[in-house]
Amino acid sequence: MHELSIAQSIFENVLKEKKTRNLSNIEKIGLRIGSLSGILPDSLEFSFNALKIDTELADTILEMEIIPLQGYCKKCEQNFAVHDYTFFCPSCQSGQIEIEQGMEMEIAFLEIKD
Ligand SMILES: [Zn+2]
Repeated sequence: MHELSIAQSIFENVLKEKKTRNLSNIEKIGLRIGSLSGILPDSLEFSFNALKIDTELADTILEMEIIPLQGYCKKCEQNFAVHDYTFFCPSCQSGQIEIEQGMEMEIAFLEIKD
């Protein structure tokens, strides 16, 4: 049910945007989904496709880009890719890290049909 509520909010946001900016047909919605966001892309797409039937977005498709996890080490001040959910710095083994990306879910772009 998690994905359904996310699909619903994407749906509402895009419809609002469409109205505000007076957009014609939206062909594609580009999403950025962090690999640790907990969102299942297939499930999200399924929910979206169910919601869009007989609406203004009936022909709109989702394009999803999965954003890999990236951490930042506060000790040696560098970015690194997080693999296998090991949350420490690969250079200095410090646990003082921050997750820079990989948790997000956002609308990256809307593609409009001419
Ligand atoms: Zn480090």
